[in-house]
Amino acid sequence: MTATAPHGLAEPHGVTEEQAQTHSHAHGEEVPPASARPKLAVWKFASCDGCQLSLLNCEDELLSIAEAVHIAYFPEATRAVVEGPYALSLVEGSITTPDDVRRIHEIRAQSGVLVTIGACATAGGIQALRNWADVDEYRSVVYAHPEYLRTLDTSTPIASHVDVDYELRGCPVDKKQLIEVLAAFLNGRKPRIPTYSVCVECKLKGNVCVPVATGQPCLGPVTQAGCGALCPSYGRGCYGCFGPQDSANTESLTRQLVELGMPADDIVRVYRTFNAGAPAFAAASDAVAADARDRAAQERGPE
Ligand code: SF4
Ligand code: SF4
Ligand code: SF4
Repeated sequence: MTATAPHGLAEPHGVTEEQAQTHSHAHGEEVPPASARPKLAVWKFASCDGCQLSLLNCEDELLSIAEAVHIAYFPEATRAVVEGPYALSLVEGSITTPDDVRRIHEIRAQSGVLVTIGACATAGGIQALRNWADVDEYRSVVYAHPEYLRTLDTSTPIASHVDVDYELRGCPVDKKQLIEVLAAFLNGRKPRIPTYSVCVECKLKGNVCVPVATGQPCLGPVTQAGCGALCPSYGRGCYGCFGPQDSANTESLTRQLVELGMPADDIVRVYRTFNAGAPAFAAASDAVAADARDRAAQERGPE
């Protein structure tokens, strides 16, 4: 085990790993030495770092987290690197390159529990829009020398490549849910994360229903709760950043969007955002696109 930098979150209170025997918290409780705490690693793949920032944004709880685990690998927060194996790995981002594929297998091999965090890691992220596009064309438009790039035709969630113990949704993840996952891990229990829809949270808050009152589209009925119905609380429709809920009835929602007068192209776009690659949203968007193609062919008549 090596600690290359004795500062930052990996070594709370500036105590080096070598020095860290047992030290005391301000309120007198003994903090076990780093070597006695479960090792936490935080990994990044194709992503914007927003979910890792959610962990750093847990200001009030961050010291407690740092004292309960040994933050062994977290480049967003510290240059200190402690070798694996790791008791818990949090993985942000999607798989978009051949190197990613190799790396996620290595991470899985050295992780006890592996939890994916955020829409990129659990559904492929906004970058999964490439799954419906010509990646070679994108490359040739964006890069002067696309021949130097090694990339895959698709952006896929981590679970498409290795076994994942738990998937935490959101773009970004909700910090209270992130702390719940860490607490569950430390106490050896299942995280208490709701799988019902945003509509439930919306009703609990007493919000006026956005599509009913204004005719704006809202993905709340098919989206997993967790954000506290943030968008409807400010009078705008949910755009599904927590991904599909357990039993998402997208057929019914699509009918409602048609009734609201949305053109097929717009409905496809509604399903294809941060969780475009989530199977329920991908299937719903494909069904709308296929239906629109069939209708257009019928209108054209026999060739
Ligand atoms: S899920 Fe959203 S916030 Fe998290 S890394 Fe991906 S794009 Fe960023
Ligand atoms: S505003 Fe959206 S999330 Fe809230 S109850 Fe209406 S459909 Fe559901
Ligand atoms: S209401 Fe929908 S889009 Fe807004 S934060 Fe919640 S899940 Fe995301």
